[in-house]
Amino acid sequence: MTQAIPYAGGRLRNFIGGEFRDSEHTFANISPVDGGEINRVCRASQADVNEAVTAARQALHGPWGAMSAAERAAILHAVADGIEARFDEFVAAEMADTGKSLQQASLIDIPRGAANFRIFADLQKSRATECFHTPTDDGAGALNYAVDKPLGVVAVIAPWNLPLLLLTWKLAPAMAAGNAVIAKPSEETPATATLLAEVMRDAGVPAGAFNLVHGFGPGCTGEWLTGHRGVDAITFTGESKTGAAIMRAAADGVKPLSFELGGKNAALVFADCDFDAAVEGTARSVFTNGGQVCLCTERVYVERKIFPQFVAALKQKAQALKIGWPEDADTDMGPLISHKHRDKVLTFFAGARAAGADVVTGGGTPQFGDRRDAGAFVEPTIFTGLPETADIVQKEVFGPVCHIAPFDSEAEAIELANNTDYGLAATVWTQNLQRAHRVAASMDVGIAWVNSWYLRDLRTPFGGVKLSGIGREGGAHSLSFYSEPMNICIKL
Ligand code: NAD
Repeated sequence: MTQAIPYAGGRLRNFIGGEFRDSEHTFANISPVDGGEINRVCRASQADVNEAVTAARQALHGPWGAMSAAERAAILHAVADGIEARFDEFVAAEMADTGKSLQQASLIDIPRGAANFRIFADLQKSRATECFHTPTDDGAGALNYAVDKPLGVVAVIAPWNLPLLLLTWKLAPAMAAGNAVIAKPSEETPATATLLAEVMRDAGVPAGAFNLVHGFGPGCTGEWLTGHRGVDAITFTGESKTGAAIMRAAADGVKPLSFELGGKNAALVFADCDFDAAVEGTARSVFTNGGQVCLCTERVYVERKIFPQFVAALKQKAQALKIGWPEDADTDMGPLISHKHRDKVLTFFAGARAAGADVVTGGGTPQFGDRRDAGAFVEPTIFTGLPETADIVQKEVFGPVCHIAPFDSEAEAIELANNTDYGLAATVWTQNLQRAHRVAASMDVGIAWVNSWYLRDLRTPFGGVKLSGIGREGGAHSLSFYSEPMNICIKL
């Protein structure tokens, strides 16, 4: 790939009221590939956050608020076109910030970023409204109909693992429904959000309808935004404990919240599965994006009669993964997002060993003999032999790792899978049709896959139960969060 990294050596600025703004304080955007500084990020001040909220409010009373759904949809289509016109820049920026592979960035992250704007723009245009004919004593009746109104100023707070994809997954429906938004990307991955601000401006998004503020969470931009009285709703993807902090910050304002949080997802592999497909699919679900997808599998339960073969086959897959430079076409896995995150993952590995785990493969950091040794890489790792109570079996690691344990019956498998505080996703591998339906439906999660993983239709409900979140995104579910139906009753 020959595309230069956007903003390399430069500054990433905030975008408020239709203008890019510098700020007094900056922080370094560090490459997870080699530890070098990519660029500097302007940290929004509290005054910047206040101005972003004011600009967003004004947009609701200005041209943006006056537009029809069709006019907004046309602009959001132009945003999608704008992302595609600068596709290589977006890919290069995402790879630089995350270290994710060219394959992943160019086949998933950036195309989905553009697709999100098209799908929600079109869904909003064809959205139906409720209407009831109500009988009355005088026989004339009444007509009740709902008018969907935007929530107002929406704070959109995103994580670092799929930076553009997850940010736009919220921005697109929020804007399609007519809200004005303030985006806060993760401090680890500020670049594609900044490119998006350029695209928004060039696509003709009216000033204030989209704002961007950079910075950290606690005691900084994120907290100033979520605690702001002028913010009407908060949509957040990230860690469960951050969700809890945001809930507390939003409590006084009794604000609508949409939360997509952490996971500790199980895969159940039955002896009647298509073995090769189950191994291939589980390898993908454990190691994609270095395990840094909320839907990744971290607990694998395998029917005892195929347990040894399955462990051996997954080990082979893990060892065949090519860890390397993001821009190499054959790289399967890049680094973790940061050294801080790598320390956390390695602490989990050490804990697993101390608890008596068998290390099937990995468990350490790869050595390259070049500047990648200063990056945040870890080896694809598989453990077996731990009790269900072990930290690495209970807590979200968010790295390229799984623990594999055997089971003897379907009932036991279901119990093991559901024995967690989280409830995001599960995967079931079986060729028995009855079992597939029965086991999938008994998973305490928001999404269960059978004989596949990460197969997404953007119209379907997406979200988690328990510590994994509140509410559903996707298709009409997103649009219904980002708008509030108001009922009008007409006596006939
Ligand atoms: P994180 O919670 O540390 O940070 C997410 C965002 O919240 C960042 O922009 C951060 O600056 C901000 N933030 C942090 N503290 C805040 C506070 N007190 N107030 C306001 N904002 C604050 O999460 P992360 O490490 O960026 O992302 C990884 C996590 O995200 C994992 O737990 C993963 O499972 C989860 N995730 C969930 C989904 C899903 O759809 N359920 C998708 C992707 C990631």
